[in-house]
Order: sequence, then C-alpha cells, then structure tokens
Amino acid sequence: MSLVNDKRQAAWFDADPEVETGGAFAGVVFNRPMDLVLTYRVPERLRGVVRPGQRVRVPLGRGNRPAVGYCVRVDTVPPDGVGPGRVKDLLEVLDDPPLIDAAMLELTRWMAGYYACSWGQALDAVVPAGVKKRAGTRVGTFLTVPEEVRRARESLELPAKQAEALAILCRSAEPLTLSDLCRLAQCAPGPIAALRQRGYVHTVKRRVGRGAALSTVGEPAPDAVQTAPVLTAEQAVVLERLDPALQGDAFATFLIHGVTGSGKTEVYLSAIERVVARGREAIVLVPEISLTPQTIRRFRRRFDRVAVLHSHLNDVERHRHWQNIASGEVQVVVGARSAVFAPARRLGLIVIDEEHEATFKQESTPRYHARDVAVKRAQLERVPILLGSATPALETWRNAELGRYVRLPMRERVGARPMPAVELIDLRHERPALGGLSEPLRRAMAAALDDKGQVILLLNRRGFHTFVICPKPQCGQVLKCHHCDVALTYHKGRRLLICHTCDAERDRPPACPHCRAPHLHYGGIGTERLEREIEAAFPYHVARRMDSDTMRTPGSHEQVLAAFRAGDVRILLGTQMIAKGLDFPDVTLVGVVNADTALHMPDFRAAERTFQLVAQVAGRTGRGDRPGRVLVQTYSPDHHAIVCAARHDYEGFVAQELPEREQYGMPPYGRLVRLIARGAREPTVRDYLDELARALKAAATPAVQLVGPAPAPVLKIRNLYRYHLRLRCASPRPLQALWQAVAPTLPPPSGVELAVDVDPVSLL
Ligand code: ADP
Ligand code: ZN
Repeated sequence: MSLVNDKRQAAWFDADPEVETGGAFAGVVFNRPMDLVLTYRVPERLRGVVRPGQRVRVPLGRGNRPAVGYCVRVDTVPPDGVGPGRVKDLLEVLDDPPLIDAAMLELTRWMAGYYACSWGQALDAVVPAGVKKRAGTRVGTFLTVPEEVRRARESLELPAKQAEALAILCRSAEPLTLSDLCRLAQCAPGPIAALRQRGYVHTVKRRVGRGAALSTVGEPAPDAVQTAPVLTAEQAVVLERLDPALQGDAFATFLIHGVTGSGKTEVYLSAIERVVARGREAIVLVPEISLTPQTIRRFRRRFDRVAVLHSHLNDVERHRHWQNIASGEVQVVVGARSAVFAPARRLGLIVIDEEHEATFKQESTPRYHARDVAVKRAQLERVPILLGSATPALETWRNAELGRYVRLPMRERVGARPMPAVELIDLRHERPALGGLSEPLRRAMAAALDDKGQVILLLNRRGFHTFVICPKPQCGQVLKCHHCDVALTYHKGRRLLICHTCDAERDRPPACPHCRAPHLHYGGIGTERLEREIEAAFPYHVARRMDSDTMRTPGSHEQVLAAFRAGDVRILLGTQMIAKGLDFPDVTLVGVVNADTALHMPDFRAAERTFQLVAQVAGRTGRGDRPGRVLVQTYSPDHHAIVCAARHDYEGFVAQELPEREQYGMPPYGRLVRLIARGAREPTVRDYLDELARALKAAATPAVQLVGPAPAPVLKIRNLYRYHLRLRCASPRPLQALWQAVAPTLPPPSGVELAVDVDPVSLL
C-alpha cells in the first residue's frame, strides 16, 4: 500500500530546485475529501520531469484505478514511514510546465486548513475547467526539419515535389501536420514519406493551440490609453499614503472607506499604474454584477493589456486568459470571485472593490471567501492589498479598528457634490393604493421626469406576485415548491409558478391543492408587477426592468444600460443588480420600493445587509451637476439600519450594530463554523447531526459554544432535508482543532452529505 498519511509541514517550496525536480518520490493530492498526501515513486523516465504544481496520473486505491492528482512535492528520499518497496509508480505527467506555482501551492494548502477541505479540493478550485481540459488545444504529430538540413536545403538534390514540400515546411511559421503539408504543397503523402526516409524530415508529437488562439490576448483593441484626471485632494492624500507600499515588496492591507462617488475607482487605477510601471501585475476583484461594460472600459482605457474574467467566458477563452496571464502578457486582471486565483507570476497589487459583497463567498466546497483568500495571497506574495467600500463589512471594519488594516477614509464626493437627501416613507401610513408605489413616491417620480431627470427604482424581488395563498381561513396554505421548502413566485409573463431556489416550474393550479377551494389569492409585489404599474402610471416614459429574468442573454445588460445612458430609457427598475456601481449623472431620483425585504431574515447580518443595500442604491443619485433625491419606503422607519442609511451614517450604524454582535459573540467578535447535513431521509439526517453534536460537545473546550442542531431555516432544498449546527468561538483555532479531532471519527452515513462552512455568509 502506498497510502501514507503525511501531514508534515514540509518546507518543500523553499527546497533546492535541483533536488526538488530530480527526486524519486512525489507527494500527490486529490480532489476528494481525503486529507492525505500520497507518495508515489517517480519512474526513471520521468525523473527531472515531475515537478510540484503539475497534474499527474497515478494508480489509486485497491483497484489501482488511474486517477488524476496534483503533485505537491518531490523528494529524493521517501517521507518518514514510507518503505520504498511499498510505493506505487507514478504513471504520467499531464502538464509541462506546471500549472500551479509555489505561491499558489502554499495558498491552497492554507485554504485547505482554514476552510476544512482537502488540499486537492482547494487546488481543483483554483484551476478553471477549461485549463484542466486544455480547451482550445490539440495534440498532433507535426513535421520538423533538423537545423543542419534547413541550412543545407538549397544545395540538396531532390525531386521537384520533395524539394517544394521541404521548402514550404521550412518557411512555415506554424507547425504543420502531414495533411497540412500535403494540402499546402499540393502533393500526395509519398514525397513527404520519402523526405522522412532520407532523414530530412522528422515527426514530433506536440500540443498546440487551435489557430493562434493561445498567443493573443484576443480582446477588442482598447480605445486610446487615457491618462489619469487630476486627482482630488482626498484621492491624492490616499495615494500618497499608499505609495510606499506600492513601491515596496511588503504585505499591507488598506481599507479605502470612501462614500459613494468619492472616486475610489480612480484611486485603484492610479495605484495600479504605479505597480504596472514597476513591471508588476495587478488583480482586481469586483462583484460579478459590477463587471459592467462601463467598469471594464475604465480599465481598458488606462491599460493596454487587460484580461477580464467573467462568467460568460467559454472554456477556450478561459484557458487562453490563463495562459496569457501566466506568461506575463497581462498587466491587469479584472474579474469576479475566482480571479483571486489568476496565475499572475509577478503580482504587485490586489484590489477588492465592494469588499463587503456577499458574492465573494463561494457557496460550494471549498467554501472560501475571496476577500480573505486575497488577503492571505497578498501576505504570502508580500504585496499590498486594497479593500474598497462605502459600507465595509463589519469584519473588515473591526480589523481596521484593531490596526490590522490601515483605514483610509474618503468623505467627500468628487467635485464636492453633496450626498443626496434621503426621505423615509412610512408604509404604515402611506400605504400604496394599488401596487408598490406610495403617493409621495409616485409624485416624486413625476416631478423628476418632468424635470428631465432619470429615475432608478429598487425592488429586490423578482416575479409578479411573490406568493400564492389559499384564502380559506381553515386552510391558509401557501403554495410551495414540490422539491423545496420555499414559497413559489408567480411569473405572469411566462404564466408559471417558479421556485427561486431550484428553478422548478409549475402551472397555476385551478384550485387549492390542499383543500380544493376554487380560488387562490395572489399577493406580494415583484419587479414584473412593478413594471406594469409604472407603465400604467407613466405611459409616456420608457421604463426598463433589470433582473435575472430579463437579463438572461449575454449583452442584454449592456443594451439596457446604454439606452439608459443615452436617455432613451427614463426609468430603470430592478433588483440589487441596479443598486451597485452604476454611475449616471442624470439620475435625480432613487426610489426604494421596499427597504425591508431583507430586514427580517433569520440571519444576524440582516440589518447590515439592509443598511448596505439602501446606502448603495442611494449612492446612485446626485452624481452629476444636479442634486439627487432618495425616497425609501419602509415599514420600519425607526430601525437603525434604515435610519442610519438615510443619514449616510456608516459609523452611526456600526456604533449600534457592533455592541449587539459583541453581546452574542457573533462575527466580528466571534468566529462561526456552520455544519450542514443534508439527505433525502429526514430522520437519518437529524440523527446523524445529533450524534455529531454529542461528539463535538464531549470534545469541546469551554471556549467553544454549540448552537443547535436544528432544522435549517429552509428545511428542504431540491428534495434534500437540511439540518445545521453552529460552532462559535472567539478565535478560529479552537474551532479548527475541535473539528479536526472529531470529523474523522464520525463521517456521515451513506445518504447524508456534510458541508462545513467556515465563516458562513448565508445562514439559510
Ligand atoms: P466610487 O467608486 O467611489 O463610487 P468613482 O470612482 O466611480 O467613485 O467616481 C465617481 C465619478 O467621479 C466617476 O464618474 C469618475 O469618473 C469621476 N471622478 C473620479 N475621480 C475624478 C477626478 N479626480 N476628477 C474628475 N472626475 C473624477
Ligand atoms: Zn424548488
């Protein structure tokens, strides 16, 4: 058996490269939930070829089935406890050069420890599928001409066909296959076979890009590169503070805490310019929904080699970007969450815009938070990292308070524009007569439109009606998804009831499925219904809806925003998609149709999310020469999240929110680990989690608290029942230690899956 449980913290990444590459033993990890580095013998023919960071094919398990793993270490002697005779042979090397560099190996090893997954699982998350498949490349048998034949070609006495084929082959810039050459020389294979027999032509197997794909950055040519505007006083101060870090080789984390419209993006651009000028590369993470053409253009105008990693890329494009980044052809990588793993080899700076956004957290194994991984990467690669937000996550705020991050405030908007005035509309007194718009909001819209302004309306619910209920008092059942414990939403355009959790669709039932009552009541307002209401109220103004239903096709986002920019569209309504990052000078009114949609969620971050969303959307107005106005409809006008958002008072919000968190030991004061068990049979899931809870309680130190087990707030998703258990502690170490001690003793039974979520963002 070659199974060796070797958890040594070997300093392999510092090892002498000669020893490292020539070694006879390779440590390999796998994309499976097993916390082992297995040792394999490197056969003679692969000595010097096998290196850490390559994918390798090896026999695995009792059946010796070939499996792909990641080589993480090469040693000259077998690690302790491994007898050379018991080690299996490594079969094949899949990548040359290695896909993963030493820094990324170290980062993924840290991720495995921190996020309680295996090293192999962390590595697998780093490498995009298109890179693993080597999409856009092929292996072919190509013809080559030895150098001495090349030089002597003119003097060779050859039949005409052979001479012509040889000449074409020598002149070709691209590698040619036999059939390529037959086509180009317009000959049969015979003359080429004759050249091979004479030794004038050889064949080699090579992997090449299809066409020239791998060697070009392949983006539309940028407009002429623009220079920076004159910085505002605050921007200049921030940049001066950053400069030593940008010029040095040290790790430091900065929180750029700037109000909406204070010009944070300009600070990022100027900071990146300084590291690019030193021949370094920058990675910029933005939430996927902020990867708008407007954002991308701002980067492309300032740098000529920008790679944008967005979710619409296909495998070939992703592979090409990876190659270009790894080969140093890219100055700036802009992308969503997974761009934190971009293989920049001369990293000089990481920027995380809107660092508070929940989408930086990955909700499948490895459940990493890109912001926190980025901070770790910056530390390992000794580069500065900038976190930017108008509404920093409380974890980030606390880190700044503790002096771990340097806080750089920007309190003024560019051009000394005032922050917009925010008025609250108390829905308890100003109930809309029909749909979602109260009379004051409707009047404000009319006034803004009359005044040639534009309007943005936020409603964070899609669909037409948000629930369907049986009105019979003795029944009163809400229509739920067949597969999830979730109320169905009525989508009028598609005439379907849709589950927003699993996307299952259902026709409208003719009667209540529970009591057969003939009429069902449709209630609640989604963006689709709001759109109808606006069309009826403002028939002479063009309105567009932006939510994930209307924005399905790539490019639709861009189209709507272009029409809004041009002024053809006067009212833009939508979900949180429209709340962030948009910068349109003519927007004079922002309306929040219901500020409370997230306020009463069973989640300790409900207030924080509500504050952030209202503050962000309010920031979309007053960005031009005309002042902006914000109306916020709410049933909770006294809630501190709403009150503080209306006053643009982040610190006031923090001052009220933090003591509550501290009192309950919640983040940022405590660390959470959430264990979620799910399976098709509810009793099995519940029993397993009960047993796990008992074992954890028995092993836990007093510093660790257990909450639960309990049914998750959403009990069933996709026919799987879900129970959860939360572990809480002031610091992460005791949690890690506890989990590492207990987890191996109690693996889930068959039919139950266990997810470990460290620093959970979603608690549903
Ligand atoms: P934030 O990211 O903080 O919300 P932006 O970087 O989007 O702010 O800047 C807001 C607006 O101000 C943008 O239209 C931007 O082009 C403009 N702007 C930023 N810095 C300057 C500057 N120094 N001079 C002139 N305009 C600027
Ligand atoms: Zn469902």
